[in-house]
Amino acid sequence: MAKGVRVPERAFGIAMWVVSVVLAAFIVGLGNLVIGDLPQVEQTISQEQFVQSAPAQKIRTELAAITARRGAIDDKLEIARLQLEQAQKASTTGTETFQAWIQARTATTNPQQDPEVLARTRDLEQLKANERAVQASIDALDNERTPLGQRESELTDQQNRLQSEAMPAYEKAMFWQELRVFGLRLAITLPMLLIAGWMVARKRKSDHWPMMRGFVLAAVFVFFVELVPYLPSYGGYIRYAVGIGLTIIAGHYLVKNMRAYLAKRQETEQQAEEERRKLVTHDEAFKKMAAKVCPGCDRPIASMEGAESNFCVHCGMTLFNRCGKCETRKMAFFRYCLSCGTQAPEAAQA
Ligand SMILES: [Zn+2]
Ligand SMILES: [Zn+2]
Repeated sequence: MAKGVRVPERAFGIAMWVVSVVLAAFIVGLGNLVIGDLPQVEQTISQEQFVQSAPAQKIRTELAAITARRGAIDDKLEIARLQLEQAQKASTTGTETFQAWIQARTATTNPQQDPEVLARTRDLEQLKANERAVQASIDALDNERTPLGQRESELTDQQNRLQSEAMPAYEKAMFWQELRVFGLRLAITLPMLLIAGWMVARKRKSDHWPMMRGFVLAAVFVFFVELVPYLPSYGGYIRYAVGIGLTIIAGHYLVKNMRAYLAKRQETEQQAEEERRKLVTHDEAFKKMAAKVCPGCDRPIASMEGAESNFCVHCGMTLFNRCGKCETRKMAFFRYCLSCGTQAPEAAQA
C-alpha cells in the first residue's frame, strides 16, 4: 500500500539522523578529551611530599655514605681474598716440597743440627706468617663492614617509619584530590545531561531537533560511558543514582503522556466523524492506514472474509468509500479518486 509521506521527506529523515549521530560523535570525542585532560589540572601527589623532609634527607645522606664506604671495603676485601688464595697456595706448595726433601735427608743426617734444614724451616714459617697476615687483614675488613650493615638496616627502619607516618596525610590528600577532579568532571557532564533532558522535554518539535538530538545522545554517552574509567570508588553511586532519577522522570512523563493521550482519544471519539476527521492530517492517516490501524482511534482495522471493511468497528470512522462520480472503491482519505481523478467532497474542505 502506498504510504502518504513524500519520498524526499523520508530521505531527509535519514539524513537528519546522520547529522545527529555525526554531531554526537564529535561532541563525544571532545568530551573524551576534556574529561581525560582534567586530572592534569591538578598536580600529581606523591607520598614523598608528606614525609618530614629534614630527617628523611639526613637518613638518605647517611645511607649514601654507608653505601660508598661499604663499596670501598668490598673492593679491598676482594683484593685481600685473592692475596690469601695466593699465600695459601704458596705455603701448601712449600710444605709439600719441604716434606719430600726432608724425607730424603733424614736417612743420612740428624735434621736437628742441619743448618739447611733450619733455613728451609724458617722459609716455610715465613710463608705461613704471610698467610696469617692476609687473613688478619681480611678479618679486620670484615669487622669494619659488619657495623655498617647494622647501621644501614637501622636507617632503613627509620626511613620506613617516616614513610608510614606520612601515609594518613598522603591518603587524605589523595582523597580530596580525587574528589576535586571528580567534581570537576561532574560539573561538566551533569549540566550537559540536564540540558539534554530539557531539550528532550521542551524542544522535540523544534526545527533544530536533529542537532539537539545529537547533543542528547552525546550527553548520555559521555555521562554514562566515558565518565566510568575516571570514577572514584564512590562515583558509581552518583552514576547509578542519576540513572535511576532519569529513568523515574522518563517513566513519569511516559505515564502522564499515556494518560493524556487516552483522555484525548476518549474525548475525540465522542465527537462527530467530521470533527474527528479534521484532527487527522492527510499524511498521518496514510501512515496509519498503511499499518492497518484506524486513523480515528488507533485500533487495528478489523476485516472479515467476504465482507468489505469500510468502517472502523471500534469508532465507526469511514475508512473506505466510493467515488461520487465513478463509484470506484477507494480509501476515504484519498483527496482525489484514483480512477477518475474527481476531488473527493470530504477532502475538498480539508
Ligand atoms: Zn476507529
Ligand atoms: Zn472516480
